[in-house]
Amino acid sequence: MGATVEVSKNGILGWYFQANLLMRILIGLALGALFGLAMGPKAAWVSPLGDIFVRLLKMIVMPVVISTLVVGAGSIHPKRLGKIGGKALIFYMLTSAVAVAVGLCFGNLFSPGKQMVISGMASAAGKELTRPSLIETLINVVPKNPFGAIAKGQILPVIFTSLLFGMGIAYLRESRDRRIKDAAQMVFQFFEGCAEVMYKIVHWVLEYAPIGVFALIAVVFGKQGATAFGPLAKVTMTVYLAFFAHIILVYGGALVAFRINFARFLSLVRPATITAFVTRSSSGTLPVSMEVAKDKMGVSKGIYSFTLPLGATINMDGTAIYQGVCAIFAGFAIGMPLTFGQQLTVIATAVLASIGTAGVPGAGAIMLLMVLDSIGLKVEPGSAVAAAYAMIFGIDALLDMGRTACNVTGDMAVSCIVAKTEGELDEKYWNGELTELKPAEEKI
Ligand code: ASP
Repeated sequence: MGATVEVSKNGILGWYFQANLLMRILIGLALGALFGLAMGPKAAWVSPLGDIFVRLLKMIVMPVVISTLVVGAGSIHPKRLGKIGGKALIFYMLTSAVAVAVGLCFGNLFSPGKQMVISGMASAAGKELTRPSLIETLINVVPKNPFGAIAKGQILPVIFTSLLFGMGIAYLRESRDRRIKDAAQMVFQFFEGCAEVMYKIVHWVLEYAPIGVFALIAVVFGKQGATAFGPLAKVTMTVYLAFFAHIILVYGGALVAFRINFARFLSLVRPATITAFVTRSSSGTLPVSMEVAKDKMGVSKGIYSFTLPLGATINMDGTAIYQGVCAIFAGFAIGMPLTFGQQLTVIATAVLASIGTAGVPGAGAIMLLMVLDSIGLKVEPGSAVAAAYAMIFGIDALLDMGRTACNVTGDMAVSCIVAKTEGELDEKYWNGELTELKPAEEKI
């Protein structure tokens, strides 16, 4: 524990550093909401404190992803990597397709936007909106310049390159040529050292989380507090009910089917879910979700270093649900409820759109344009569809919080399932017989 900062046991600072982190985050959340409601838009003056938190998380994302992915891919035999990757991909795709269906069901059930007539308020639509092309998104997974991709924070190309690099190391570590084998081992150890250093930094960043959370929540409530209600309250309620249903029925069902204690999962996953909720970024939450997978769930680095960055990038169940509900909302709002055929199309495009959605705040709202486009609801400036879209866009922060929390919870659930199928979860710990995980690695 040599690196731990020594703090006085007395006073507010002493309390701060000794209290349970989750409790501190929850206190930050509650105080932030109250502060935001009380101050209104003036709460924005605390936003730099939140920005610092988001920047700290962003700062560590790339090094964490690269080092853990290289170490992860480099530490498992190439054959096993294919198996884990295959399993994770299948789970991710399946749950995303079910997620859109859940969104559509709840949308049909609650019919948000039904009583609205917005065809006359075309002027509400505003800016020119650009649609990303899906093919382009897929091609861009292969970077022209990996260093450029790192510098620009493009996560998919970085995952792709790190994975290849790690696989290269894994192959060479098996080399019969002693010189090559040793060289590969040295590169592997270098990245392993980087990963450990990054975990240490993550620990320190988390100490700041409660303050960051306070500020981020205060700003959202300050801006949207009382005005975020009205017809949009129904969209919000529908989307959130669908999130809960998906987490309980789909993840709960899948975890139980794989004999993983769902209640235990929910209690362990909380720090990751809450961080996702307040940061609205799956990628930004990665350092926390990796820490939870490693220290609280006992998932091995070989699995989480692969499943979590991949999940944070392509597994967006919350986003898929949101797109389902919002497509229904847009249909009702412009007086043209979606047909069954259109809803089937939404399932296909929303799954693709959620894959192409970056794990950053607001990305899902941009991809919604692609989904609406696919069913003929073109968001042209001045159109009724654009007005409906602009309304949802106005409360995007609120919706984004829930969908990101759902996205990250899904990544964690799939990681646990893959770990379980690889025989890695400690049964006794997961069943509550043991309260502490056996340390998988020496902790500094
Ligand atoms: N903010 C979401 C995430 O990071 C993506 C989205 O906007 O739907 O998972």
